[in-house]
Parts: sequence; C-alpha cells; structure tokens
Amino acid sequence: MTIDDRRTDPISALEVMIVETDWEKEGGFCPDCVKTWKAIWTKDREKIWKNLGDWLGLDVDAES
Ligand SMILES: [Zn+2]
Repeated sequence: MTIDDRRTDPISALEVMIVETDWEKEGGFCPDCVKTWKAIWTKDREKIWKNLGDWLGLDVDAES
C-alpha cells in the first residue's frame, strides 16, 4: 500500500492502521494507548461502512 492509496481509500488505510501497524514498536505507544486508538479507529471504520452505500451511489452516478 502506498501513501496515495491511503489518501484515496480510507477503509484500507484504517485497516492498515488498525491491523497491520505495530504501534507499540513503530510508534512508541504504550499498550493502553494502542488499545484506545484502535477502539476509536474501529468505530470510524464502522461509520465509513455505513456511509459506503451513499458514496458508491455517488460514484456510480458520476461514472455512468
Ligand atoms: Zn500510553
């Protein structure tokens, strides 16, 4: 995944942040902080999924 992908694909970007990044090792955060951040991002991701239908609808209209 490139930085451009993260910019245009918020769901995948969140997935990387939640699942793939080792925040304790790479970010120097303590386990409690990592847990808090991941809970926030997981909620954001759920919100994005709920809105995804609308987003896709707009995209389909724009492309057809
Ligand atoms: Zn902490």
